[in-house]
Amino acid sequence: MKAVRYHSTGGKEVLAYEDAPDPVPGPGEVVLRVAACAVNRIDVWARSGRYKTSLPHILGTDFAGEVVSAGPGVEGVGPGTRAVCHPVVSDGTCLYCRRGKPNLCLGRGFVGIATDGGYAELVRVPAANLLPTGPLDLKVAAAMPVDFGTSWNGLVSKAKVGPDDVVLVWGAAGGLGHAAVQIAKMLGAEVIAAVGDSSKSEFVKSLGADHVVDYSSNDIVQAVKSITGGIGASVVFEHVGGETWGRSIECLARGGRMVTLGLTSGPKSEVDVRRVYSDELAIMGTYGQSKSDLARVLELAAEGKLAPSIHAELPLSAASDAHEIVESRKVMGKVLLLPP
Ligand SMILES: [Zn+2]
Repeated sequence: MKAVRYHSTGGKEVLAYEDAPDPVPGPGEVVLRVAACAVNRIDVWARSGRYKTSLPHILGTDFAGEVVSAGPGVEGVGPGTRAVCHPVVSDGTCLYCRRGKPNLCLGRGFVGIATDGGYAELVRVPAANLLPTGPLDLKVAAAMPVDFGTSWNGLVSKAKVGPDDVVLVWGAAGGLGHAAVQIAKMLGAEVIAAVGDSSKSEFVKSLGADHVVDYSSNDIVQAVKSITGGIGASVVFEHVGGETWGRSIECLARGGRMVTLGLTSGPKSEVDVRRVYSDELAIMGTYGQSKSDLARVLELAAEGKLAPSIHAELPLSAASDAHEIVESRKVMGKVLLLPP
């Protein structure tokens, strides 16, 4: 099969479009013919060496396609089943797995990092990770797991956002941000979209954002206070990391919840912890998603209530161009790779 692999970590030039052995399904596994694979920042981090992977390695955490073969013991899905892959691999046996929290599994990993992923014509995955997509467009399905599934985990499973909330979403035009804006709006919340570049304002408004703040030229804390009559946001969707964590806490209303995931800007931040206890703030770490989080966003996509915005569709052979787009921070929505 054709695949994009890297034989050593480094810049985008290490991504090689080449022949690789066809995967063979083992017990409990299936092989999927990839219809589309989304490119995420986690791919860039793995390629550049921040995450350890096998070598040579095939990236790709977000993908959908059609089952072409199934190994021994697989039930419920077989050749012809159209499905998307839940991106969290787990051992299925530890304390956290037994409590329905595979994303906290002691042996957890991400598909495409811990295993070969979807930058290929064919990919081997545990059958237990598949969710049938029915008639949902496979490109739409491929764009859902990492951004919509994880945002759902943060905003719904953790923060329980509702119509009384004012939700501040950082990086609102990117993959995660554009999912979070849509989900928060669907739940009836008022949404403040923070963008790093005012050229993205129209895009985030089209997703339903009520207010847009360009934080490259405005004081975000002042802006949020001004919009909320001095109160602050009841929920902050924080996926930037060290660079913005302190300001995120300052933006919170008393009793507010901060959903924190991802570290695009690094892991260290200086925070005045007094506000956390004196204003009863809740900080909610969000790592990946459960399969039920993903199942729910897929249902909502099938109903037309959530819709990933596709920034670009590129042939698989142009994976390095896709990485350049994702790294540039110019991306609005998702970038997809399409195998031949
Ligand atoms: Zn486990």
